[in-house]
Amino acid sequence: MSDNPTRTNIEELGEFGLIDKITQSFSAQQPSTMMGVGDDAAIIQPTDEQIVVTSDMLLEGIHFDLAYVPLEHLGYKSVAVNISDIAAMNAIPQQITVNLGLSNRFSVEAVEALYRGIGYACKNYKVDLVGGDTTSSASGLVISVTALGAASSQFITRRNSVYENDIVCVTGDLGAAYLGLQVLAREKQVFLSAPGQQPNLEKYDYVVRRQLRPEARMDIVYELRESEVIPTAMIDISDGLASELFHLSKQSNVGFRIFEENIPIDQQTYETAEEFRLSPITCALNGGEDYELLFTISQADYEKIKHLSDVHSIGYAQPLKNGLQLATKAGQFVDIQAQGWNHFKAADEADDIGSAD
Ligand code: ADP
Ligand code: MG
Repeated sequence: MSDNPTRTNIEELGEFGLIDKITQSFSAQQPSTMMGVGDDAAIIQPTDEQIVVTSDMLLEGIHFDLAYVPLEHLGYKSVAVNISDIAAMNAIPQQITVNLGLSNRFSVEAVEALYRGIGYACKNYKVDLVGGDTTSSASGLVISVTALGAASSQFITRRNSVYENDIVCVTGDLGAAYLGLQVLAREKQVFLSAPGQQPNLEKYDYVVRRQLRPEARMDIVYELRESEVIPTAMIDISDGLASELFHLSKQSNVGFRIFEENIPIDQQTYETAEEFRLSPITCALNGGEDYELLFTISQADYEKIKHLSDVHSIGYAQPLKNGLQLATKAGQFVDIQAQGWNHFKAADEADDIGSAD
């Protein structure tokens, strides 16, 4: 459970000793943090900006498997997924709180590894850890992070304000995190049937990293500000592009036309999908946990963002009655289905992504 061969039981330190140990290396970087850990509650100084608040809970056995998730990466990811929601509001993250449920399998060293990852994320995203709660858990590790961010009201991007003819953009590339999970699950099975055999994950380094240690795209939020572009709507891609397009469609009353050839997919994602007999485009549409940003801009703003190397325009918003369509490379239009992230077809039947238009 820990890279560290020594194992200190949590009872040896006690709850307060543990909290002191894991929080002592954190210091405040945000001017709005008046006081962090140590009193009954943290103190935050309000400004004239609006505050955005979000929480995400990660449960062992549901969201992660400690057989293949290093605790340091888990700590990092539990913060990054919350920062991703702040980024999707086009806001700047400022503080987090971390609630932990620890089973007695956990050592002090294991909690320290988790907090090392949380610490890296705090440094990277310039957020302050200002509090939390620590309790014992009978059912494995529970991590719940809450993040606070701020932005002037004109910057904040909701899901309900896409206009017809807006250009649809995504950042980075899609489908990799889902395939990383497939690789890790397969290696776990190999390990269970032949213990001692070391997995060779080098060939899958990118997709595995995308699963274990995703980044929130705050870099894009800053680039958009520098480019003086405020998206008309924005959402982060946690459940797959198709699912997020449906959210935007439903809340904005528009349809979309997306071009398959414009959907960014990494070469390693292609190769790994092929190996697993999965369709790369289905992984990009329905694989989860990419934590990229999906946003819409007015056509007039396109000139201002087209130089951004990690932003890809993939289609446009159309009248709701025209639906959600994928224009395939073969020149057909198919309906995009809002299937869940775990609903996959084998590669040989995956050409049929939806019913023909
Ligand atoms: P209380 O009994 O008032 O809830 P706690 O003893 O739980 O106080 O917490 C003491 C301080 O430590 C508080 O500032 C709290 O926010 C902080 N804290 C507790 N658990 C964690 C944690 N897992 N991560 C960060 N801070 C924590
Ligand atoms: Mg408490």
